[in-house]
Amino acid sequence: MKFNRRDFLKMGGGAGIAIALGGGLWNWTQSPSPLKTNPPGVERWVPTVCGQCMGGCGILVRVIDGWATNITGNPLHPVNRGTLCPKGIAGLQGLYDPDRIRSPLKRVGKRGEGRWQPIVWEEALQRVTDLLKDLRKNAEPHRLVVLGGRYRGLMRLLWERFMEAYGSPNYIDNQFRWEGMPMEGLFLTQALHQSPIYDFENAQYILSFGVPLLDSYWFPIHALKAFGHFRRGRVGQRGRLVQIECRLSITGIKADEWIPIRPGTEGLLALGIAHMLIKEGLYHKEFVSQKSFGFESWIDPEGKPHLGFKEFVLSEFPPRRVFEKTGVPVETIIRLAREFAENQPSLAIGYRDRPFHQMAVAALNGLVGGIDRPGGLLIPKSIPFQPFPPVIKDRLAQKGREMERIDEGLSKVFQIDRPYLFAKNSVSGSPYRPEVLFLYYTNPLFSNPHPEIFRKALDQIPYIVSFSPYMDDSTQYADLVLPDHTPLERWQDDPMFLNSGVPVLGIRQPSIAPLYQTRATGDVLITIAKKLGNEIQKAFPWKDFEDLLLYGLRGIFDSRRGDVFGLEFDESWIRILQRGGWWDPSYKSFEEFWRLLKERGGWWDPLYDFGEWERLFKTPSKKFEFFARGLKKVLSLKEKEDSFFLPHWEDKKKEGEKDYPFQLHIFKTMSLGGGRNANQPWLQEIAGPHLFERWTTWIEINPKTAMELGITDGDWIWIESPFGKIKGKARLYKGAMPQVVSIPFGLGHRSGGRWAERIGENPYHLLGLELDPLTGQPLQESIGVKIYKA
Ligand code: SF4
Repeated sequence: MKFNRRDFLKMGGGAGIAIALGGGLWNWTQSPSPLKTNPPGVERWVPTVCGQCMGGCGILVRVIDGWATNITGNPLHPVNRGTLCPKGIAGLQGLYDPDRIRSPLKRVGKRGEGRWQPIVWEEALQRVTDLLKDLRKNAEPHRLVVLGGRYRGLMRLLWERFMEAYGSPNYIDNQFRWEGMPMEGLFLTQALHQSPIYDFENAQYILSFGVPLLDSYWFPIHALKAFGHFRRGRVGQRGRLVQIECRLSITGIKADEWIPIRPGTEGLLALGIAHMLIKEGLYHKEFVSQKSFGFESWIDPEGKPHLGFKEFVLSEFPPRRVFEKTGVPVETIIRLAREFAENQPSLAIGYRDRPFHQMAVAALNGLVGGIDRPGGLLIPKSIPFQPFPPVIKDRLAQKGREMERIDEGLSKVFQIDRPYLFAKNSVSGSPYRPEVLFLYYTNPLFSNPHPEIFRKALDQIPYIVSFSPYMDDSTQYADLVLPDHTPLERWQDDPMFLNSGVPVLGIRQPSIAPLYQTRATGDVLITIAKKLGNEIQKAFPWKDFEDLLLYGLRGIFDSRRGDVFGLEFDESWIRILQRGGWWDPSYKSFEEFWRLLKERGGWWDPLYDFGEWERLFKTPSKKFEFFARGLKKVLSLKEKEDSFFLPHWEDKKKEGEKDYPFQLHIFKTMSLGGGRNANQPWLQEIAGPHLFERWTTWIEINPKTAMELGITDGDWIWIESPFGKIKGKARLYKGAMPQVVSIPFGLGHRSGGRWAERIGENPYHLLGLELDPLTGQPLQESIGVKIYKA
């Protein structure tokens, strides 16, 4: 069943509307058995937010007699406007997974062996409280470490507050770099520590440097909707997408053009295109001269001359040299540069490659003036939550917070956490070892490249607590499991941004009562804080997470910005109202605001303010920087040459090329991309739609290469790197480049229930541990592999 906005209006909102089946608005569509008549059930539709990925789509959950029976899209939610991806539809399979953890579990066997004893919550909470009290008794609160994963909103602030009040500096974000937007490129050019937003739908021409826009993008449905608008949503105007990548993905298939490129050289191609834009004078002269710094060579206040981007790019990246490394023909480079300049607004998007490769892609947007304009790169305003009151720390907490972080602190330049240094330092014991580790929404033994280093780290930690609703590779390694509710059973805020740069806050509310003896981790943390007593308890004046959520929401209410998702207002109408200078939201009191949030699914502020340059450029020059003066200021790297601060290309190490002649490329699919959904059989069934692959790991090989190796379609083959080997099914694919073999990520769980465990292989075991010196994060680069028949 699909709703439109008018249906929603007729329904009178959503939550709390109960309609007796048969006599209500919606008719029972499944025919009951003629022999037995079912009594009518009580039906309601609950607006909430899908939790299957980070896409933030609004959903309506159909609940009959207290059971969630169906999920459809919320037509009011601006992220997805009523549509869903297959993962969203499969959300019920996450809720009803028969292998869900049903109560707290205490390990009774050896670590990782999988022998557990169910215990009651009181015992579990007492165990954690005693452990934490002991750490403080020994004056070692800093030895509590939290590894947190992919989630957002107030839960993150809650964890940080807990650690501050308790006295540990070690909340470590384990969202490793590849999974995000190109933040480092944004910092180098605009000195902002946040994610850029790309206004896809209003662009005319997109150069995608390996971004899986239509496969496994950060906001999959929102990106798909934007693509639809970009392609066909504007009368007489059809956007053009050029996909540059080493394997023909679904995005490549749907693009107007696929440009095959050697893996890891996308940033170099961006520099080759920049060369041609400058050489042919095709760049945006006004933006470059008035809003940018470092394009021309310059002289600093001490009189020292510095190299500019123009001179550097013209001398270092002529198309012929770029062709030799990337494999992209010279004439293609020239044509792409011309198309990129002529089809305005044009947009270059890249993945979270090495920082200076990200900067090379960002520089293309600077060259065409594609910053802060419709169809360009946008910087959204934040959501005005009410700030929490300051934490009053006791003496132990103060001392603990002053200790060095176990990951040696945030990366100096980019202000990001370094989970790999946490792992290495936990193994070495320097500066110290963690005593207690909490795992929240993260599974480092599966979803981090080179998981072995995390396994060694976990071996060194005396006590591990996991808050996962499901058994997974890392939870299997815990000593205690405090199972969270699934997203369909809990309260949570879900803040995000639309491609048009406007903030949206989805409200996740319980659609049904918890099925098992699980508890929301937010509630659990507040309970533990209260049990710890004194100043820690005082830092948490809230009854539970819902109470805390209401506290945060009051800031939005008081800000006099935006409105709840509308039934009758459309975006343009609100814009007109706001341009008129008056604000007329749908609510008059906070209570009404809260009721409407629950009924409609959330809040948004549909106005983006263009031209606030001081918000966009926090650089020393207050301009877009082709020369990263912000970086130079942070690092004081006097000894580095100017070219270090300009977008440049860093070649990868060349080791063992002869023994490992193929390049490995790991990709993510829409259904299993996040690595979390392999426990859902519907998604296993559609794992590789372009090759009709399912329930196994396949390896994509170019047919000609396969023929030379004597491999035929469907053969079982080994793929081996210097770090490990895995077995998979060979699939001959014309979209594979001859020297590149590609494997999907998402399978190969060693734990996770009947539908995930021991199905397929995890290609991250093939990766080594080369860390980027600036970020401390693993490099997303192809490594050499060999392949042979099993
Ligand atoms: S894109 Fe993500 S959030 Fe949206 S429906 Fe699919 S899984 Fe859910």
